[in-house]
Amino acid sequence: LVSEESRASATPMMEQYIEIKANNPDSLLFYRMGDFYELFFEDAVDASRALGITLTKRGQHMGQEIPMCGVPVHAADDYLQKLISLGFRVAVCEQVEDPAEAKKRGSKSVVRRDVVRLVTPGTLTEEKLLSPSESNYLMALSRIRGGASPQMALAWIDISTGVFRLAETEEGRLLADILRIEPRELIVPDGIFFDPELKPVFDVLGRVAVPQPAVLFDSATAENRLARFFGVGTLDGFGSFTRAELAAASAAVAYVEKTQIAERPPLGLPERQSAASTLFIDPATRANLELVKTLSGDRNGSLLKAIDRTVTGGGARLLAERLMSPLTDPQEIAERQDSIAFLLAEATLADRLRDALKRVPDMPRALSRLALERGGPRDLGAIRHGLAVARDVAGLLSKQDLPAEIEGAYEDLILLPASLEDLLAAMLADDLTLLKRDGGFLREGAVTELDEVRALRDQSRRVIAGLQLQYAEETGIRSLKIKHNNVLGYFIEVSAGNAGAMTDSDAARARFIHRQTMASAMRFTTTELADLESRIANAAGQALEIELQVFDRMTAEVVAAAEPIKAAARALAVLDVAAGLAALAEEQGYCRPIVDDSRMFAITAGRHPVVEQVLRRQALSPFIANNCDLSPSGSGSNGAIWLLTGPNMGGKSTFLRQNALIAIMAQMGSFVPAGSAHIGVVDRLFSRVGASDDLARGRSTFMVEMVETAAILNQAGDRSLVILDEIGRGTATFDGLSIAWAAVEHLHEVNRCRALFATHFHELTALSEKLDRLSNVTMRVKEWDGDVIFLHEVGPGAADRSYGIQVARLAGLPASVVARARDVLTRLEDADRKNPASQLIDDLPLFQVAVRRETAAKVGASKVEEALRALDLDDMTPRAALEALYELRKQL
Ligand code: ADP
Repeated sequence: LVSEESRASATPMMEQYIEIKANNPDSLLFYRMGDFYELFFEDAVDASRALGITLTKRGQHMGQEIPMCGVPVHAADDYLQKLISLGFRVAVCEQVEDPAEAKKRGSKSVVRRDVVRLVTPGTLTEEKLLSPSESNYLMALSRIRGGASPQMALAWIDISTGVFRLAETEEGRLLADILRIEPRELIVPDGIFFDPELKPVFDVLGRVAVPQPAVLFDSATAENRLARFFGVGTLDGFGSFTRAELAAASAAVAYVEKTQIAERPPLGLPERQSAASTLFIDPATRANLELVKTLSGDRNGSLLKAIDRTVTGGGARLLAERLMSPLTDPQEIAERQDSIAFLLAEATLADRLRDALKRVPDMPRALSRLALERGGPRDLGAIRHGLAVARDVAGLLSKQDLPAEIEGAYEDLILLPASLEDLLAAMLADDLTLLKRDGGFLREGAVTELDEVRALRDQSRRVIAGLQLQYAEETGIRSLKIKHNNVLGYFIEVSAGNAGAMTDSDAARARFIHRQTMASAMRFTTTELADLESRIANAAGQALEIELQVFDRMTAEVVAAAEPIKAAARALAVLDVAAGLAALAEEQGYCRPIVDDSRMFAITAGRHPVVEQVLRRQALSPFIANNCDLSPSGSGSNGAIWLLTGPNMGGKSTFLRQNALIAIMAQMGSFVPAGSAHIGVVDRLFSRVGASDDLARGRSTFMVEMVETAAILNQAGDRSLVILDEIGRGTATFDGLSIAWAAVEHLHEVNRCRALFATHFHELTALSEKLDRLSNVTMRVKEWDGDVIFLHEVGPGAADRSYGIQVARLAGLPASVVARARDVLTRLEDADRKNPASQLIDDLPLFQVAVRRETAAKVGASKVEEALRALDLDDMTPRAALEALYELRKQL
């Protein structure tokens, strides 16, 4: 398109189009023509297919017809939403001068147009394009080489709310850190994007990750760019940032500038998040535990959905954020718990608070649209309304003895400028139009000048209504009507049969000026009518002008108060989350967990928060609560491991997951589904549960299982919580058993973490004889008449059998197959008495790794140690000692 030849043959308008398109090769170009955005060439073909709209043609280019399609401006948001969700980016190109100006330059001159905005998934602000309960993050990744290991950082911005955060990261945890934030768009310097080492990360992210030119991420100019954006001379007042953090932050800001072009969203100053302050949850665990969506990608059925009782968009977003990044500081966790406890104790206050919160509009998003000059009267209305609710809420909280978090929220609410609320209340009408250009959004009595103009207009309208009567009398035509349309304006209409009276005398002809003849009617005007008409049009124009001026003034006032408004919105979200979690705790009978710096993990009567609600909703048999105790015992300070056996369908994975979920809920500051809970802060949570098939990435289920297990055994530390379900299932029995065996030993001896290990290898239960912190527990079942009944109760001990055949029978396997299977099983069990695996525990020396000495002493001495002890040193010659030493070394 951009060749010389192409340009030469184009009409002036096409020439302009081609030039603008050439500057935006990666986006569909929405080219404004009148009331439509038109698309041409390839863009038109792609868009018509994606949107299911008609592809037409317009003129020719280089001898070929130009494909074209268009979307009406007033419906553009719907089309944008569809295109963005399909992965397109859109450049919106507007007319940036009055067509009259262009005409002045010459008859062939084209109206000047410019791209005013790039619409990308991470930079949306329109209500229709956003989900109220989800944040919409744009994220930037940076990497600075130099030194032994490169520095990496992430910066993320939600321009629809102004949130701006930063964190350091590293290669090993990059994916986990990204998934914790769930950005809609991740911009990556192209050098990193194509780095083979990081390719797997970007493969997982798919379309979310987009390469951008490396200059955007330049750390040398980063500080300047940020200082310029925030209008400050230096960043010193913001706190200290690493070079990588500065580069990521400045890239994110640069991308906002690049996509928003002339406008600046009201971003907050970048806030730093440190890795140590949040519970690390690796990507597989996050997915498998179905925290915010199920494995199939559905939000329904996730933990978030089950615990969300918030009533505002801001509250829902904050709850999701807290669930994605639980805390590790017991003090901070306790502050959040205090809020819930306070609201549970003050039930009436909590009810009133939630009632008030239900009326809270999305202030941050309205504010952003206003600042980006994309706002309308309803956005001002949202602020007016939000300020009023904020005042009501502050009123509810005043004179109370408040816990710290709620006190903080209260203080933010009372800092709102009352003058702004008064201004908006005084100016804005009750019913508001979406678009400011429709006018009519200012209240009567708000602006005297406007009232006068409106009175003039209304009076003229009344005069016109009076004229109809007068003309009907004058002409004797009782059916005469005065009507209005956009082409003629006001006109007199009579039926064709009556038209004679209007034209049969010179006097009549002079008075009634003919405008139009229709098949059944004739239309006329008069000088009086034309005069009134232009007065009305003038008045409307004047009224709109006044309204728009006032709109701009109110917008400016709102934007000037951006900081207190955002703080108040945040405060309302905090209150909403606390009130929502209190309502949840009340409704579901949750308890306040003790969270401290110990290594305790003692849960009584724990339940699975999602399964419990499902069972209740379906009025099935109630969920059976279970205890779990992985606390250190005796004088030791390391947590315990529970080895859980039991038949399929017995409830093993439910039990495993519920304990992980309870830990997460406790650390996000929520109450938990249990009778009581005492949890020493978990720093990292790992799990290997369920078969998250990764076949799309060409790895077998077994391979995935091993990769995930490797990650756990390599990374889990003594503050971690590990949940392992059915390790080694995906391979031959002896392989699987051996791997599971070694994994349990490794967890016990090396990782020394709190762990739940579910297995169908009953042989493993023998390990409890040798591993002092390992206990056997089992899902209890009852056998009745050859059938098995699952009690879903966790009790001490080991399952003696797996009941696979009974389960198969329940599942409807043909009776003949079940009978045959019983036969085979009996024979196998006989053979099993000679099974080498059953002797394992007697013969196999324990896990030989770099086990700390104290552990070695506890679990029994090695052969070398025994031999050493047996030496009678006092009775040996130096030569004999040396020989013994050689002998010992051979045994290593
Ligand atoms: P397993 O992992 O042992 O095969 P699951 O954890 O998948 O078993 O549980 C099987 C079924 O039993 C689930 O569908 C669940 O609804 C039900 N279940 C599990 N635990 C309980 C419980 N504590 N109370 C009631 N029903 C339960």
